[in-house]
Amino acid sequence: MPKTVIVTGASKGIGKAIALEFAQKGYNIVVNYRGGLPVELLEEMNQLGGSAIGIKADVSKFDEAKSLIESAKEKFGSVDVLVNNAGITCDNLILRMKEEEFDKVIETNLKGAFNMIRHASPVMLKQKSGAIINISSVVGLIGNIGQVNYAASKAGLIGMTKATARELATRGITCNAVAPGFIDTDMTKVLSDTVKNKMLENIPMGHFGNMKDIAEAVYFLSESRYITGQVLNIDGGMVMN
Ligand code: NAD
Repeated sequence: MPKTVIVTGASKGIGKAIALEFAQKGYNIVVNYRGGLPVELLEEMNQLGGSAIGIKADVSKFDEAKSLIESAKEKFGSVDVLVNNAGITCDNLILRMKEEEFDKVIETNLKGAFNMIRHASPVMLKQKSGAIINISSVVGLIGNIGQVNYAASKAGLIGMTKATARELATRGITCNAVAPGFIDTDMTKVLSDTVKNKMLENIPMGHFGNMKDIAEAVYFLSESRYITGQVLNIDGGMVMN
């Protein structure tokens, strides 16, 4: 029986690339989205060899995350891989950052992942198997000007990854994080050329990453049965531990 993956925020960007990667491997794919979902996307995944459905849910809402997991389980019978990809930015300098700007980034990026793990873990515990991959960021490791909220959410995700990995390890469930550097998506499109050129100076490989780089690493981590609690930087050498 094909395995099932849930990818949050998968209607575009990195989430979409991850969902397409799992489609190629013949997975059942639950494409979570918050706004709209292009109809052709599910068709594309089915043509690649997957079996895809779209489920609308705002992952920052505890009950919506619960229904998302329940619907996936009902449709496909298992939840084998959970990819917490949904994320937002709302940049501002700390001196100007409004309380709402801080809260909404934490609610989506950090609480959203908690909501999903909280509801997926009973299913995975029952199965005695599963893989959780959280999409963090190098910003959670080294910080970034204007991103106190985002950096806190992505650093929080790393702590959550390690604690979850420890709690679920004996039951055959892994939990890892990937920390992308600068990847060409809508999230980074908005940055000025000056900012982009400045960033390039700090990337030893001399170019930005693409979504496929992240998708392949996520799939690799989902398959491994002995890697857990790790953070994999995918950043062209930007951050070296
Ligand atoms: P994107 O803006 O293209 O996609 C983010 C997706 O998340 C969108 O589809 C959006 O609708 C969805 N989303 C937002 N809030 C949601 C919610 N409450 N519930 C459900 N879905 C929600 O951005 P992207 O660049 O593809 O980023 C994907 C992930 O990768 C994010 O977590 C981001 O922080 C992380 N990341 C991106 C980069 C980069 O350079 N692009 C670098 C490091 C980390």
